[in-house]
Amino acid sequence: MRLAVVEDDDGVGDALVEALSARGHEARRMRRGADLLIAHRGYDAVILDLGLPDADGLHILRQLREVNPVPVVILTARSDERSIVRGLRGGADDYMIKPPRIAELLARLENVTRRAVAATEPPQQLVLTGDVRVDLTARRVEVGGAPIMLTAKEFELVEALVERPGAAVSRQQLMDRIWGDAFVAVSRSLDVHMAGLRQKLNRPGLITTIRGYGYRWGE
Ligand code: CA
Repeated sequence: MRLAVVEDDDGVGDALVEALSARGHEARRMRRGADLLIAHRGYDAVILDLGLPDADGLHILRQLREVNPVPVVILTARSDERSIVRGLRGGADDYMIKPPRIAELLARLENVTRRAVAATEPPQQLVLTGDVRVDLTARRVEVGGAPIMLTAKEFELVEALVERPGAAVSRQQLMDRIWGDAFVAVSRSLDVHMAGLRQKLNRPGLITTIRGYGYRWGE
């Protein structure tokens, strides 16, 4: 497994990375919550401490959950029931108290990653909305039977929106997916590309703006 280990304590963090690596896993250590938020892609699971130097782990978890469903196991010294319940309700897939027993931690990681794989459905390849046809495999969009030329970013926007037609997609999700970072100032770029895309599609109402949240394709 590829694992992100978010842990500010060097003793705990180094021991964890060493133990996980010794068992054939690729573990990358991060010291701050912000480090995870700017590089959270490509991991099978995240091991998240709650007492972090820059923010509470629960806050980091909430922000992560806006953009990434990656399995998260909280690993913390906080053993009171209230913290455990808050962690699980806050989007953690599992919760362990320090110090961890490595075999148990791995068994729990395997469980949460297995569930995550089972929940992933293969995406639809052809989406038809009115007279707008999106072929995700060929990366082609046709409006009224005629192909339209989109820039790479515009197509990525379409791709992100049509994955679940009718469902709201937040600006954070779009910025994270297309620019690789939901937490820097790419807001303006999103507006520019969205305006360009809408103009080329020329189908008012196809992409609905949801004020204060994001966008929705169709319906
Ligand atoms: Ca800590």
